[in-house]
This record gives sequence, C-alpha cells and structure tokens, in this order.
Amino acid sequence: MSNFLESVNQNFDKAAKHTGLNKGLLEQIKVCNSVYQMRFPVKVGKEYKVIEAYRAQHSHHRLPTKGGIRFSQKVNQDEVVALATLMTYKCAIVDVPFGGAKGGVMISARDFTEKELENITRRYTMELIRKNFIGPGTDVPAPDYGTGSREMAWILDTYLTMKGGDIDAAACVTGKPVHQYGIQGRTEATGRGVFYALKEACSYEDDMKELKLTAGLKGKTMAVQGLGNVGYYTATISQKEGGVKIIAVAEYEGAIYSENGIDIEKLMKYRKKKGSIMGFPGTKKMKSRKDVLTVDCDILVPAALENQITKDNMKKVKAKIIAEAANGPLTATASEYLLKKGTMILPDMYCNAGGVTVSYFEWLKNLSHMRFGRMEKRFDQAKYGNMVDLVERLTGKTIGKKERQLITSGADEIDLVRSGLEETMITAYKEIRGIMKRKKSITDLRTAAFVSAINKISSDYLSLGIWP
Ligand code: GLU
Repeated sequence: MSNFLESVNQNFDKAAKHTGLNKGLLEQIKVCNSVYQMRFPVKVGKEYKVIEAYRAQHSHHRLPTKGGIRFSQKVNQDEVVALATLMTYKCAIVDVPFGGAKGGVMISARDFTEKELENITRRYTMELIRKNFIGPGTDVPAPDYGTGSREMAWILDTYLTMKGGDIDAAACVTGKPVHQYGIQGRTEATGRGVFYALKEACSYEDDMKELKLTAGLKGKTMAVQGLGNVGYYTATISQKEGGVKIIAVAEYEGAIYSENGIDIEKLMKYRKKKGSIMGFPGTKKMKSRKDVLTVDCDILVPAALENQITKDNMKKVKAKIIAEAANGPLTATASEYLLKKGTMILPDMYCNAGGVTVSYFEWLKNLSHMRFGRMEKRFDQAKYGNMVDLVERLTGKTIGKKERQLITSGADEIDLVRSGLEETMITAYKEIRGIMKRKKSITDLRTAAFVSAINKISSDYLSLGIWP
C-alpha cells in the first residue's frame, strides 16, 4: 500500500476508536467500493500510445459519487483510491450529499498538444460512459491537478454526444466554463474556501492564544507552496480580503522570499511575462523549492501535491498554523509530530472542501436549469427600495446614492455562491471544533473531522439498512 493511502487509513483508524461503532460497519465505510482501471490507445503524432487511467468510487452511501480527475505522470491505483476516500469524508464534513470518487489519467499534460489532450479526455470519457462510471445521478467528475474547465467542457460534449436526449446531461460533470453550464465562482472556490476556513479558525481568541497569536487574519504572515488554481486564489484572496502578508511562495521553477510581503497579483503578471517567479523585484531566491515549507511564518499553505511534509523535513517546519489546501500534503507521521509540537492543522478534507461545495451548487443549478438569483434579484431590489423610501419618508432624511445601491441591490449568482460557500465552511468548522471541545480525548481537528464524517456516513448506512 502506498504511503498516502496508508496515511489516510491510519488517520481513519485513529478517529474510528472514538466513534464506538461496529467493526464491520467501520470496515465498510473505510474500504473503496469500486475501481475501474482502463488502458486505451491514443494517436500521438504518428505513434500509438497506450494510456493508463482509473476511476475509483469509494462510497455509494449517497449518490452520485463525486470527485475530480487528475492528469499526472504519478497517477496510480493507490493514489486514486486514497483521493477518492478523502472525497467521501470531505463531502460528509461539509454536508454535500455525495459519495466520494476520483479519476486519474497517467499522463503529464505538458507532453501533449491541446488536440492530443482533447483526444485523451474524450476517449477517457467514452470509457467511463461504457462502464456507467459517469452520469448526473451516478458519478460526476470535476477538475483536479492538471485539469480545468477546458477538460470539463470536452467531457460534457462527449457525454452530450452519447446521451443527447437526457435533459439533465449538463449535470454529468462540474467545473465547466460558465458559458457552458458552469457556475460563477467555481474556479476560485477551493482557494476561497481555504480562506474562509482560515478566517474562521483564526477568529477564536482562546485557540489563537494557545498558539501565541492574536485573533483575526489581519497582519498574519503566510507561505504558499504552489501557485496553481488553489494556491493562487488562497493567496490573493487572503491578501486582499484578509490583510494577510505573503512572505514566501514556491512554484515549479523555484521559491522566493520577502519579509516585506509579495504582491500576488503583480507576481502573477510578472510570471506570465517572464515565464517564472524567479527574480521578482524585492524578493530573494530560496535555496530549494521545498524551503518554502520551513519558512518562519504564522500560516503555511501547502497547495501542491501529497506527501510534501514527511519525516525528513517535519522537524524544520516552523509555521503555527498549516492549512492543507492540497490533498494529503502531510504524511500521518509528520502530522502526529507537528500536532505534538502544538501546530494547528486544518485538515485537507475540511480545508479544501470549497471546490466540491461549489461543484454541488453547479450540479443543483444544472438540475434546476436556471441560474441562482434569477427569480428573486429584482423582487428583493424593489422590496429593499420600498423599505429605504419608507425610512426616508418617516425620518425626513435621504441617504446617498452609493449607500442606497448597497442596501437595495439584489443578489447575483456570484454573491449567492460566495455566501453559500462561506456558510458551509463556517458551519463545518463549528461542527468539527465542537466535537473536539466536547470530547477531551480528541485533541486535533483532523480526528474531529473524521469523527464527524464517520458518524454521518454510518448513520446513512444504518438508516438505509444493510441487506442480510
Ligand atoms: N478535485 C476537487 C477536490 O479534490 C474538486 C472535486 C469536485 O468538485 O467534485 O476536492
């Protein structure tokens, strides 16, 4: 078994002890229900290349199953299963009514042209359709490492070609471009979710005192590993909306540091122009990419891949809070060590659940065939306008044009998506923290998050009944 899957299962076992549930039931929750491994040929230039790919559905206690598709050379069955497993717990924690799944295609996207990537994506989708591993009520993929809205549009188009008569076909995949049945705010969702998680976690004075920090995000220093979709949005939103100071950033080409703070938007523009973050004015080059993980800072955000903090570098980690924006960035051993040291760890299955939460909103939008806010926006606007008119009449005073607009405007889709996401992240954190506070034997957020997930999933199994 791989390190990653082992870590996930170790964490599960640690939490399972606190639930008092039947051993067989726990085993059913833990195991992966189905894995489809496939190999198919794709023409690359004049050659035929055999592509290896997977789709794992970890749990069917709620349907559809849900989870991204990653394109990476490192994809293997154990990794896909571990990621599908995390999806099950992730959905349960944030009350997204899906089972967990994950797909993986063993390719490095950099090695293929756009057309070749399209062929691979379409062929992979055909394989899923053939085995009933995709569909609005069956299994709904989404973006993950190495994929984005472009790939999701190809998946949708392939699905539509085969199942054109299905009125709900657009709900077969999420993370689509907004103009192709997608939803506003899905691209930023995982990063924005990490921001809401951090904001909530840092709002408790008692918890911050234990870390020798003051409450609130403002002024806290942050180091970010990976400026992909998740890392970029976490960093820029934390900077703009939270007042966080980003002092170190690592990307594929290296890592940079500045104690005065790095402007993320400017850095992204610089990278676009120069093809690298290295040499960004006002920053120093760090010796190695991985040094970003051991920077002296308040908040560390590993937003790249799994197994980044291991027994080899865990002793050098100085951050007081670690927000697991990636899936499985800490091995179980590293996690244990850092918890003993007093580090606060926001576990991946909670911390990066913003993506699947907004995917859920997108799926609902597709099934309702209407964008959020369409029915009520103008109605709300008129109602609030009447209210302001009345107050003005009764007081004999008038308010400014800008203030009136602020008070009376109805919600757009993006406002509702962000509000729903914030509500989801806050509620889930309160639930997890509550479990930890109530049970003295549970001393970390990951175990509490697992307990929350296991309790919800077991309750589904028990109320659905298990066949004799
Ligand atoms: N790939 C993302 C994750 O790991 C999103 C999954 C989804 O939206 O279904 O959570």
